[in-house]
Amino acid sequence: MPPKYIVVLGLLMSGLGKGAVTSSIIKMLDFYDLKVLPVKFDGYLNYDCGTMNPYRHGEVFVLNDKSEVDMDFGLYERFLNKDLTGNLSITGGKLFSKLVNKERKGGFLGEDVQIIPHLTNEIIENIESIYKKTNPDVLVIEVGGTIGDIENSYFIESMRQFATNRDVTFVCLTYVPALDVVGEQKTKPTQIGLRQLLQLGISPDIVICRSKASLEKKARDKIALFSNLSTDRVIDDSDDYTIYHLPVHFIDQGLDKVLLEDLGISRKINKAKLNEWNSINSKIKSPKGEVNVGIVGKYTGLKDSYASLREALIHSGAFNNVRVNIDWIESTDIEKKGQTDRLSKLNGIIVPGGFGKRGTEGMINAIAYARENKIPFLGLCLGMQMMTVEYARNVCGLDKANSSEMDPKAKHKVIDIIEWQKGIKTKGGTMRLGAYECLLAPNSNSYKAYSKKKITERHRHRYEFNNKYRKVLEKNGLVIAGINPKENLVEFIEWKDGFGVGTQAHPELKSRLESPAPLFISFVKEAINRSAGE
Ligand code: GLN
Repeated sequence: MPPKYIVVLGLLMSGLGKGAVTSSIIKMLDFYDLKVLPVKFDGYLNYDCGTMNPYRHGEVFVLNDKSEVDMDFGLYERFLNKDLTGNLSITGGKLFSKLVNKERKGGFLGEDVQIIPHLTNEIIENIESIYKKTNPDVLVIEVGGTIGDIENSYFIESMRQFATNRDVTFVCLTYVPALDVVGEQKTKPTQIGLRQLLQLGISPDIVICRSKASLEKKARDKIALFSNLSTDRVIDDSDDYTIYHLPVHFIDQGLDKVLLEDLGISRKINKAKLNEWNSINSKIKSPKGEVNVGIVGKYTGLKDSYASLREALIHSGAFNNVRVNIDWIESTDIEKKGQTDRLSKLNGIIVPGGFGKRGTEGMINAIAYARENKIPFLGLCLGMQMMTVEYARNVCGLDKANSSEMDPKAKHKVIDIIEWQKGIKTKGGTMRLGAYECLLAPNSNSYKAYSKKKITERHRHRYEFNNKYRKVLEKNGLVIAGINPKENLVEFIEWKDGFGVGTQAHPELKSRLESPAPLFISFVKEAINRSAGE
């Protein structure tokens, strides 16, 4: 089969859910048992997302292979239920650094190196090399940003060139506003956006319309007319109860048939796969119960900072047939106001990852409250580190114990910089990143959650549990529940009583709708028990 490509572009504005649309297209093709892979173009000049602020850009997603990638990769993996690799993320930073290196080596002797054709060729070569290496049935390329951005203009131009002699279907996501709920849907912004796209030499094969209410016939007809398409190629993407329903919503409108026709593929859908997906969705839609979980973090102002965590709770909630209501608690607020009223209403508490001192004392307060009141608790990375600090201070009596990240002069540095991190001076891609093995202690809650001894989870940190304090913490009842065998690094800790697990890893990064993270499944079960016992 000759290479097949789908390119997903965005009109008008960001934040419409282009990642969800791309993931849904991928999933739709996966229902047909096609081998499909995503590629993401990002125009920013950072080499990768690792040095960005989660508060601005959202979560930094980490893959098994140590790559720090855009949070859209989290979406792709959660839909596709497959581990992806960092070479699928193509950023402006990677492209420019490669191009300049090539030029310095004499790769373009005698030429003046230009955006067109050198940079655009570089993009095309990247795509072709991914195709050769992975040999998928279909590559789905998501172009980050919006038509009209300077940052992604060279990606769009390269896709125009790319499509001239290849099998490419262009999917374009637009926004159809209505002034109020009963107001008429307006297509003028889309008309202007489509004209802009046509000026760039690209005409869409499919237009997907993001809107609040269902797309009206009048609006659909008008958009079809302006994009030279039949109306079955203008697709509704109105508000739904969960993004995981989007692939099914697309299938219900026949988008699968249209896409397969464009790709020249004739296949039958794998009904068992689709049914399984539908049955999980129905648990999200009408769960049997609900639990209240508090997330005590330092970036709660931007929920996307914790995208994988939020999704992991949806997955494990659906698995346990409950809705997990999240109370986002800014940890600095707990420092100032205590907020025990709010904490007492929770069936479970999570302290997630993070960097820097701000808010950590509030996290420690919340952890102490969970431990003392036997509220099921999960500490993830920084959360596990603060769980260690809380135990050292309040149970072992190690006064002012801390992580050296928060207090470099602390007398008891129960969390300290990883030995091999000490010599590292550069910041990009130098943390302890990616998948590491861990051996779980039999009889521990962690072992019970995973039902196996040897597990692998993803990491992103520079500090670790200080083994010098292992004895005193253990003597005072802290359970060391998991160790990385190669580095002898404590990866999992637990309280003896109740359910309190801290892990240096980020199990939320591997949670998918069809295979929720085991530790989250156990945590939600414990939260259900707690709510039943109230
Ligand atoms: N700041 C901590 C460290 O670097 C925790 C990192 C995290 O939570 N991802 O070790």
